[in-house]
Amino acid sequence: MRLQSTISRLCEHHELPADDYQALLTTDDAESMAFLHNEAQRVTENVFGRNVYIRGLLEISNHCRNNCHYCGIRKGNSNLHRYRLSKSEIIESCMIGYERGFRTFVLQGGEDPAQTTDWLVDVVTTLHSKFPNCAITLSLGEKSYVDYERLRLAGAERYLLRHETYDPIHYAQLHPEEMSRDRRLQCLRSLKSLGYQTGAGMMVGSPYQTVDNLVEDLLFIQQFTPEMIGIGPFIAHHDTPFHNFPNGSPLFTLRLISILRLMHPHALIPATTALATLLSDGHTRGIMAGANVIMPNLTPAGVRNDYALYDHKAGYGAESVEGLDLLRAELSKIDYTIKIGRGDYSPTCLFPSPSPVGKRKCG
Ligand code: SAH
Repeated sequence: MRLQSTISRLCEHHELPADDYQALLTTDDAESMAFLHNEAQRVTENVFGRNVYIRGLLEISNHCRNNCHYCGIRKGNSNLHRYRLSKSEIIESCMIGYERGFRTFVLQGGEDPAQTTDWLVDVVTTLHSKFPNCAITLSLGEKSYVDYERLRLAGAERYLLRHETYDPIHYAQLHPEEMSRDRRLQCLRSLKSLGYQTGAGMMVGSPYQTVDNLVEDLLFIQQFTPEMIGIGPFIAHHDTPFHNFPNGSPLFTLRLISILRLMHPHALIPATTALATLLSDGHTRGIMAGANVIMPNLTPAGVRNDYALYDHKAGYGAESVEGLDLLRAELSKIDYTIKIGRGDYSPTCLFPSPSPVGKRKCG
């Protein structure tokens, strides 16, 4: 097996030089890849047990002031029915989620100027008092330090903001002129310094992406140490400038999940909706590759299809709050169970095994 020693080094030291990441991303050696996935799954099990955390994903608005070239809810898409949830709809949805066992709510949306920081602070404060044993995660794009701070003080503890791509030139190919890689990174640093559990990540196979871009993404994630890492394949949306580009590869996404798991054994890594959209067994394949989180959709059914980031986005069945039993059944086939709880990031071993995972060792 060609890359066994590289994978073992990643497993032991949690970091590699660029050349080694390059080799892992370009190899066609099936045996090495099987070893990579096995190691990643073993490390995940050592840290978290055979448990999967669930987060209720509530898409609170599909209005967006940005015009990202890949995204179906971009400002320039005039073929989309736009919606924004009211405070009471958000609370109602969280109630439904709470009854089904969710203890984390992820409020995601476009950058909607009508959902002002004052309004969001009120929503977060209310959720925090109504669900004191739940974590509130936000995924609402770029804001000022002061806005992030106000939301943090109101009770939001986690923030997902994918860096999308570390390379500034690639970033400019994916985004309109007024957005920049530097601003994105500045936001991520602000979030970390405010004490948010912070999520970064990128799309896999986005237009113009090179292997070198992905190596840079890995090196960035290695150094930034996000508590959460969200990656999924790029999927074309028919009403965007990228409608003719091919979808990213789900298998290559699994390879990256495994590398990221060995890099950050304690990170929260979802098997994402995009992965489940392209692979019918995306959840279980993601978990077997080292993911440990699934985010079923909690958005009211009447508007769920309108949060159309890309074509054929999954949001029903095992990808939804209504389908939790289906998800349980999928997971039980691979002998995993849903763990009810907040599922916070914790850089210690949660499930000591005969060969426990120390902070810098992976069994
Ligand atoms: N406005 C928020 C939420 C964006 S949607 C923010 O800026 O963070 C959440 C994620 O969906 C994005 O970060 C992006 O990585 C992903 N996404 C958007 N369009 C996509 C597409 N066409 N294919 C795959 N993933 C996409």
